[in-house]
Amino acid sequence: PFPCLQPQPADPLLSLAQIAGADRRPSRLDLSVGVYRDEAGRTPVMRAVKAAEHRLAETQPTKAYLGILGNAVFLDHVRALVMPGVDAQDVAAIQTPGGTAALRLAAELLAAGKPDRTIWVGTPTWSNHLPLLGEARLDVRCFPAFDIATQAPLVDRMLDIIAAAAPGDAFLLQPLCHNPTGVDLMPDALAAIADALAARGVVPLIDIAYHGFGRSLDEDSERLSALLDRLPHALLTYSCSKNFGLYRERAGALFSINRGGALRDLITGNLQALARTSWSMPPDHGAAVVATILGDAALAADWRQELAAMVARVHAVRQALAGHGVVGAIDLGPVAGQSGMFSLLPFGAELVARLRGDHAVYIPDSGRINIAGLAAERVDGFVAALRAAQMR
Ligand code: PMP
Repeated sequence: PFPCLQPQPADPLLSLAQIAGADRRPSRLDLSVGVYRDEAGRTPVMRAVKAAEHRLAETQPTKAYLGILGNAVFLDHVRALVMPGVDAQDVAAIQTPGGTAALRLAAELLAAGKPDRTIWVGTPTWSNHLPLLGEARLDVRCFPAFDIATQAPLVDRMLDIIAAAAPGDAFLLQPLCHNPTGVDLMPDALAAIADALAARGVVPLIDIAYHGFGRSLDEDSERLSALLDRLPHALLTYSCSKNFGLYRERAGALFSINRGGALRDLITGNLQALARTSWSMPPDHGAAVVATILGDAALAADWRQELAAMVARVHAVRQALAGHGVVGAIDLGPVAGQSGMFSLLPFGAELVARLRGDHAVYIPDSGRINIAGLAAERVDGFVAALRAAQMR
């Protein structure tokens, strides 16, 4: 019954994590899959999440349908958290099963709004971006947006692409905590990009999956606000997977920002129609947990504190790595100035293979390291492996 189905390759990252998991060498170090780990290597349920779950278990009166848009309280809180300066009247919002579904829905909306629209994607980028956008009938075009040797974002290249794009095109933007490079675009670069987008009538699809992992929740929001302030239209996808540690609960949202409020109802209706024919309604639990936390001053304060401690741990690991300076041919210095969970260093296939084979250090072929998966006490061991693997 399925004559056209082709065998599909396994997800390379998840397969690598499985291989790493089966490696019994004591020096095993898995820096592949993008989850936060604490010093003991665990990905804990955050304290405020546990408390909110207990509260929900005791007080939630029903599991009846909430509706296609999902949890309105969750959407209000997340909107206010991530873009406090934007008028709620200018925002259409829908809860989605994680950031992935928000991206997919955004792509469907872009395609429905203007068939065969081009979306420009700077590479390297998150491995799911290109297939996901392509599935939505968008014409996906890539350009290099990062120089791995100097670890610098190619802002001029981005500006050139925007200036040459057709009005109505879309542009994928990860302004903060870039996956996989760890780059935060500086405020002047963000302002220039925003002005170019607005001048050309190009719609940004802003992917926020690591809110709070940059400097802090509030500073990340400020940077984002400075970007949004300059834009008449934007789509923003939000993931609660990392900053609330809710990965498997699939809590996310899509926001469509259109100044003047005129498009809000049209967009909301279309988002509802698109979601209705796919997942119909988003899973409730993760969003209910987030709404409970953000709606309670004490839980919100505790969540902020725990998140800040996680982010401080990642920054401390970055400092420790960078403190080793140049190791063989690899300069670890730039890692200190980057943020989010990842860095992308010029490792090359041979070094990646040696690290795996000789040292049980697992890094994907791309060379992306999950810094958030590295314990501070294992930094020296990692650097020793990195040095030894280059000397053989
Ligand atoms: N965007 C980026 C840049 C990501 O790194 C991720 C998760 N790895 C997502 C979106 C999607 O996250 P979620 O698990 O919430 O679907």
